[in-house]
Amino acid sequence: MLKINEHYLKLQASYLFSDIAKRVATFQEQNPEKDVIKLGIGDVTKPLPDACVQAFHKAVDEMTTESGFHGYGPEQGYDFLRQAIAENDFQARGAEISADEIFVSDGAKCDTGNIQELFSLDTRVAIPDPVYPVYLDTNVMAGRTGTFADGRYQGIVYLDSTKDNNYVPDLPTEPVDLIYLCFPNNPTGSTATKEQLQTWVDYARENKALILFDAAYEAFIRDDSLPHSIYELEGAREVAIEFRSFSKNAGFTGTRCAYTVVPKECMAYDSAGSKQAVHPLWNRRHCTKFNGVSYPVQRAAEAVYSQEGKAQIQDLVGYYLNNADLIAKVIGEFGFDYVGGDNSPYIWIQGNRDSWDFFDLLLNESGVVCTPGAGFGKCGQGYIRLSAFNSYENVTRAMERIRQAL
Ligand code: PLP
Repeated sequence: MLKINEHYLKLQASYLFSDIAKRVATFQEQNPEKDVIKLGIGDVTKPLPDACVQAFHKAVDEMTTESGFHGYGPEQGYDFLRQAIAENDFQARGAEISADEIFVSDGAKCDTGNIQELFSLDTRVAIPDPVYPVYLDTNVMAGRTGTFADGRYQGIVYLDSTKDNNYVPDLPTEPVDLIYLCFPNNPTGSTATKEQLQTWVDYARENKALILFDAAYEAFIRDDSLPHSIYELEGAREVAIEFRSFSKNAGFTGTRCAYTVVPKECMAYDSAGSKQAVHPLWNRRHCTKFNGVSYPVQRAAEAVYSQEGKAQIQDLVGYYLNNADLIAKVIGEFGFDYVGGDNSPYIWIQGNRDSWDFFDLLLNESGVVCTPGAGFGKCGQGYIRLSAFNSYENVTRAMERIRQAL
């Protein structure tokens, strides 16, 4: 008799996006004359930058010739892309990361979900609340938690991100081994200063812990004092893995390319207490279970680092940040407490009412769709998330309607 992995049965069905879809469908049935503006999604809306498209086309053309054809490539990514990443995203910022510490993949979602495989089942895991659900669910699937009770899984150390700590979690009061952090944050849009991140790095060094740092929204940082990479901090090479993505900066959500940095100094411990380097283990996993990102996609990603690519990405990110400014301005006018939007495409708004009531209010009174914060964890109750990923025209219309409705 085939038995299933019963840990999957502990997973909470995510009704978030299906509930949103149902409520929007009902609203549209009842108000067929009104159009709905969606500010709830985390997917980008603008097309790929021209530099990436040109490189993509060129690489596809190469693939049509005997001499330019590429079959299986290196699982870790082509050297041209790994070099460009190391030089531009890290070395240019004074972070010592070398090309062979970079693992190119088809998404930060897969990487942040898969990385936990390397660590033992009795690892004590710390996860922020609210959170991008992948970190939590993949640990549930692996069997690192008990059951779900009162909005939380037993066995997880939740790191509350609330107004009291400016949405940057405090160090845990109980021991943890593996710590998930994400800045700029999804869903809150909050950022962490160098001092705040250094506290976490120091904690990890003192406690033989490891930080999994998700920097998928790094491109939205415009405050020069904020760190773009955890490796800008002293000692981070020993205790941090960083995840990056081309999804949100270059619009690769449908094209798929991302990367994970595993410095050679990163260590975990075996049951005898001896140090084991994480880099060769992730390399082993990657080579065994992944067969590389396609050559044309890697060429398109490489173009992100060309002169034209950099300028186009700055425009693209600037476009969404301009939307975020407008959202924040209107929300601020009404006296709502909010965070994000300044170095992030997300604005996290405290509504002083139930998340779903706020969702219904915005939908029914203004035809605008947001994401209820309660869908991201217990600490998200009472909040909504607005996303800047839409056209400026739509954001302007949405905010005008919200202005009238409120
Ligand atoms: N990490 C965070 C925090 C995200 O919000 C998302 C997507 O929304 C991802 C990772 C996924 O990135 P990718 O498209 O590279 O899988």
